[in-house]
Amino acid sequence: RRAEALASSRGPGRTADGHTVQLMVNLGSPADLDAAAAIDSEGVGLFRTEFLFLDRENAPTVDEQTETYGRVFAAFAGRKVVVRTLDAGADKPLAFVDHGDEPNPALGVRGIRLADHSDAGRALLEDQLTAISAAAAKHEADVWVMAPMVSTPAEAAAFAAACRAHGIAKAGTMIEVPAAALRSGLVLDGCDFASLGTNDLGQYTMAADRMNGDLAELLDPWQPALLELVSLAAESGRELDKPVGVCGEAASDPQLACVLVGLGVTSLSMSPGSVAEVRAELATRTLAECAAMAAAVLHAPDAVTARRVVTEL
Ligand code: PEP
Ligand code: MG
Repeated sequence: RRAEALASSRGPGRTADGHTVQLMVNLGSPADLDAAAAIDSEGVGLFRTEFLFLDRENAPTVDEQTETYGRVFAAFAGRKVVVRTLDAGADKPLAFVDHGDEPNPALGVRGIRLADHSDAGRALLEDQLTAISAAAAKHEADVWVMAPMVSTPAEAAAFAAACRAHGIAKAGTMIEVPAAALRSGLVLDGCDFASLGTNDLGQYTMAADRMNGDLAELLDPWQPALLELVSLAAESGRELDKPVGVCGEAASDPQLACVLVGLGVTSLSMSPGSVAEVRAELATRTLAECAAMAAAVLHAPDAVTARRVVTEL
């Protein structure tokens, strides 16, 4: 059934019984743009913008940013592009910002916190929103914008307000801090959508540095604790009728993608090379089967068992 589905894998993602799930690609560098745009997907679910800011002496100007975002929007004309605002900090330092001396950069002034903790950070966010808005006005892409590392409902609401001040219609937050998942109803109340960053959400849930290979077991995206937080956020999205997707690596694993759909997420954004396989796997399962997989995983005591119970279903 899977080989057949892979051979005919085209169009929007849907389960065997026709429940639709947006399948999108993650984009992190303009060098990947043409290849990413050529993939049969509904757009970009995570456009990482760090490449514009890292490894340079000065911040990019609004014009330079507008031009770069415009190229991406043009390549995805008629499709959705979710731009993530800058996720920099002492772990991904900027030459033109004083990040201070942080002993735990992953727990420091990172992502949206940079905008809330310094004038320089606030100016960077303002310029970026100006550029995104200007580029969106010139192109046909459906542009959504989200902030990384949101921890509280107040941060989510403040970000959405900043987006609206720039005329950006769809403002969302990444849910990659456990607090944001636990309070996802209130987070979503203040914005339009959320996207689960399972890489960081796993790191912070398991208190395991995602750069430390020795902790791979704890960082396994099949960890039931991580998936429980995904479930909470998806449930909040359902209650409020707002989209909640996944844009972390978890979405690239075809079996786990079905589990995520069973937990209730509405979109999956992944490395471009995974889209066909995820679409094919999804096409072999009904939504009820995905829900049964999700229930089994939530009852599993650990990641290894979670993976196994799903293959035995
Ligand atoms: C994540 O944390 O899951 C995510 C998608 O963002 P990044 O990998 O860029 O931190
Ligand atoms: Mg992240």
